[in-house]
Amino acid sequence: MTRSSDYCYMNENSISPYLKCSFCSKPFVDPVITDDGSRSCRACTSSDNVTPLKEKLILDMLDDLRIECVQCHEKNIRRGDYKQHDDTICPQRIVLCKASDLKCSWTGTYAELDQHLQSCPFEVLRPIFTEILSKIGQDQTRRSNEQQQVRNENKEYEEFKKEVEHLRKERIELENAIHQMTNQTENILGNQIEQLNKLYHEQIKRNNELEAEIKRLRILFLQHFPVWKKFQAEFEQYKQSINIQQLKEQLERLQLETRRISEQLTTIPAPAPIDNSNEITYMKQLFNQHDVQIKLLARKKCVIPGKFK
Ligand SMILES: [Zn+2]
Ligand SMILES: [Zn+2]
Ligand SMILES: [Zn+2]
Repeated sequence: MTRSSDYCYMNENSISPYLKCSFCSKPFVDPVITDDGSRSCRACTSSDNVTPLKEKLILDMLDDLRIECVQCHEKNIRRGDYKQHDDTICPQRIVLCKASDLKCSWTGTYAELDQHLQSCPFEVLRPIFTEILSKIGQDQTRRSNEQQQVRNENKEYEEFKKEVEHLRKERIELENAIHQMTNQTENILGNQIEQLNKLYHEQIKRNNELEAEIKRLRILFLQHFPVWKKFQAEFEQYKQSINIQQLKEQLERLQLETRRISEQLTTIPAPAPIDNSNEITYMKQLFNQHDVQIKLLARKKCVIPGKFK
């Protein structure tokens, strides 16, 4: 942190009042504008409502002011470069021992550092410390690698455990499925065996019935066989008694006779037609005469009811 007390202005009276703070009367450091529009150093105002001053000309003029380092008394330093001077150039700047990383607690000016380093016990031991630190570093790296390996192995073990658990669940599911299938198969086979048994018994029953029927028919056949034999013998006897040839000859003779008679019938001349028209005319006349006589009788009141009206 650059403090204005670490440097003083050269020819301060010649600096324009336009660049100076009304509170501390010094050139602005980190200038801000307050809510009433006035300018001041950020540290000098008590107002919280401030905005940084951004006028480049003023900022450049402030950076360009010449100062003197109160620690090393170097003059004519640009105020804008003072931080760099204080951090890296000023021989009177306060520094830590180079062996502060080895826990040396010495502090002093940069100018005194070389002298301290010549007697600094930590810096003398640096090669040993470096070796030890290197070994520690290697150990740490190795341990870190081992820890990483253990973590990886743990992770693999967890994944393996998960896989085992997954396989165990699958095995249980498969066992259940097999059990279910076995039950179903047993049921189906049981039903089929029952049906086959039923069919087998029905078939045996049917066979027995058929055998009984065959037996009955055989007995019946044996009973009827002598009768049939007798009928057959009688039929043969009867067949021999009829002379088919004789019957045939008789039939032929009858046919010849029939043909002969029908031929005779065709040779008989047809009778001459009878002319009876004279007779019919005579009968009509007779009828008319009778009719006249009946009508005459009817007039003489010799009426025969229902006739000749
Ligand atoms: Zn001020
Ligand atoms: Zn200095
Ligand atoms: Zn030291």
